[in-house]
Amino acid sequence: MARIIRKKILITGVVQGVGFRPHVYKLALEGALGGWVKNDASGVTIEAEGPAAGVGKFIRELSRRKPAAARIDSVSSSDLSPAGQKDFSIAKSGGRAPASAIIPADLALCADCLGDLLDPSDRRYLYPFTNCTNCGPRYTIVKTVPYDRPFTTMAGFSMCPACLREYRDPLDRRFHAQPNACPACGPSLKLEAGGKPLLGAAALEKAAELLISGRTGALQSLGGFHLACRADDKAAVARLRAAKRRPHKPFAVMLPSLAAARKYCRVSALEAAALISPEAPVVMLRRRSRELEAAAPGLSKLGVMLPYTPLHAALFALLEKKGFAGPLVMTSGNFRDEPICKDLAEAGKRLSGPASFTLSHDRPIHNRADDSVAFEAAGELRLARRARGFVPSAVKLSSGGRQVLACGADLKNAFCFTRGKEAFLSQHIGDLSEPLNQEFFRETLANLGRLLKVRPALTAHDLHPDYASSGLARSLPGRKLAVQHHAAHALSVAAEHGLDGPFLGLAFDGTGYGTDGKIWGSEFLLFDKKTWRRAGHLKYFGLPGGDIAALEIWRPALALVKDAFGPGWRRAAGSLFAAVPSRRAATVERMLDSGVNCPQTSSMGRLLDAFSFLAGIRAEATYEAQGPMELESLLPGTRPGPGYNFRISAGPSGLEIDPAPAVRSVVADRLAGRPLALISARLHSGIAGAAVEAARVLARQSGLKSVCLSGGVFQNRVLLELVTAGLQKAGLTVYTNRQVPANDGGIALGQAWYALKGYKEKN
Ligand code: ZN
Ligand code: ZN
Ligand code: FE
Repeated sequence: MARIIRKKILITGVVQGVGFRPHVYKLALEGALGGWVKNDASGVTIEAEGPAAGVGKFIRELSRRKPAAARIDSVSSSDLSPAGQKDFSIAKSGGRAPASAIIPADLALCADCLGDLLDPSDRRYLYPFTNCTNCGPRYTIVKTVPYDRPFTTMAGFSMCPACLREYRDPLDRRFHAQPNACPACGPSLKLEAGGKPLLGAAALEKAAELLISGRTGALQSLGGFHLACRADDKAAVARLRAAKRRPHKPFAVMLPSLAAARKYCRVSALEAAALISPEAPVVMLRRRSRELEAAAPGLSKLGVMLPYTPLHAALFALLEKKGFAGPLVMTSGNFRDEPICKDLAEAGKRLSGPASFTLSHDRPIHNRADDSVAFEAAGELRLARRARGFVPSAVKLSSGGRQVLACGADLKNAFCFTRGKEAFLSQHIGDLSEPLNQEFFRETLANLGRLLKVRPALTAHDLHPDYASSGLARSLPGRKLAVQHHAAHALSVAAEHGLDGPFLGLAFDGTGYGTDGKIWGSEFLLFDKKTWRRAGHLKYFGLPGGDIAALEIWRPALALVKDAFGPGWRRAAGSLFAAVPSRRAATVERMLDSGVNCPQTSSMGRLLDAFSFLAGIRAEATYEAQGPMELESLLPGTRPGPGYNFRISAGPSGLEIDPAPAVRSVVADRLAGRPLALISARLHSGIAGAAVEAARVLARQSGLKSVCLSGGVFQNRVLLELVTAGLQKAGLTVYTNRQVPANDGGIALGQAWYALKGYKEKN
């Protein structure tokens, strides 16, 4: 007789709401073991009893095999005395949800459910709301913990006998799948296009027809509405742009499959894995041709996602059946910078301009969540926007402390709660200068706070006194802590990597309030364990008109040219400013001379804006960073050669990087008619070279070995890769953002880490 043993096994990680218990149950049945499995505060607990060899194999299998959406952080086991148990069961989690219960993030349609959806003999054939324990809505439908159906927006639907059988059968893929549903008992579609609404399958048919005919629809998706139209129909895209007042800003497209994505774009292994991952973000891919130019004019990259809900998959199946297998623009259903619409009432009010029909359903969206956006750079997948699929997954911290709320910044706002050694970022909220986004902020603060059961007594916020996010922080009870913008950027990287200091932080972005009241944006910051100080930056230049200079990018260009050439700048610049009405140029020159309405800045984003004007890209942008993105798009795939020269010297507040020699060179190259691609290459090389050189000097002076790179400018793939390679060549270890965006969408994590670690500025 084999020796009988019993083990207690603890598993941590993403193991709840992802089909982990049925998976354990099946493994136990395979091994004919006794015992039980249940969810608890820290993850999943198992007791398993049987022959020693069988239990050993079971534990090995647990570490080796896992459901698609699960992530195992640790498996530990200890010995118990055998209890003679022969059968295996799934025990109830029981009672109230523990304080650390985890709400799973939304999961893209799995391969099994897609199979059901496309099988004409299946009872869920083309049913847009099918799901199982491996896929489906989670965070977007959860009202409160624990994650059980009565606490989701599925509460209003009662399961039919067939669905209930699946739900109760531990061997079924839909065992305890809280949103389980079928055409007989679940949510259904409604199409409104003027006239009598169409329901169910007829609604989907009609939506497919309308889209093929070139109409734009508002489609209720997982975390909100999308505006959809044919991406290959220039007129349709142009109409959508006009109605959304987005003349150029890139729109994401949805393609039916990975093969289709490869037809339009180059797709690396990392990018392919991201496209088909359960998080299913929009992935920025390098396009092969100018096809679908209307979706992302002037850019070398196209944001692509694959159908991630059964509704999308069913829609694409019908489109194909009707002879259109092509791409759809699938952009957030909002007006300009407003929050994504989450119900028909909002969509009816705000999307009736662009959309000529709505395709909605009766499974309410509780937490709105936009599509996440990812891109590959320096060999890693990175996030430009963190929302659906990623929220509310935690960022693990190397140490904990009291609960903190960090309110983030005003552009690309996301906030952050900490609880123990975990940080929970909200989904992307957006631009807080838009009042509806402030409402979205408050709504999400309440929702996420309830789910996480947190009540922080300390609120961190940006140092900028006039930021809406700072105002929102002030309206909350408890202690407040103002955190300098770029210190927070750098610390967002340190938090992700558990880096305790000392390190050098390079934060390059568009704008952030400095401790000297100026607008910072290319900061070299020295950190030790508790303090930080500024050790270098781009030489200040004027930003005539303030915020407007981020769109009228000839303004900072004029400031830089005037600095570089002095009084003779007009002659030196030749015809460069010909497109700018001379009266406006004269006004801007007066602002520069008097300093009135002309803040000083060290912004790398504005420097890049100015360079993109000088290079000849454009005089005015219609969205932030348009010029630099178009400039980057011109680069050849190979490494650019030697770059323009920047002068580095000691200034009153650390090293000063003077762009004047580079400005003079780019003006000369432009006037000599050199190709744009060459100017772009020299610029990228020059900026990266100057950043690396200044960092090297500072690292040597202070004996530092580690550098953290953050800020929106490091979403520029070429700059990130050149700076990383240069620093590594200098013997430094480079850390970058991977779990949170390098832009202001990740800044709340740095603010929280600043508060947790008790950082202070060193004077
Ligand atoms: Zn599934
Ligand atoms: Zn049913
Ligand atoms: Fe920033």
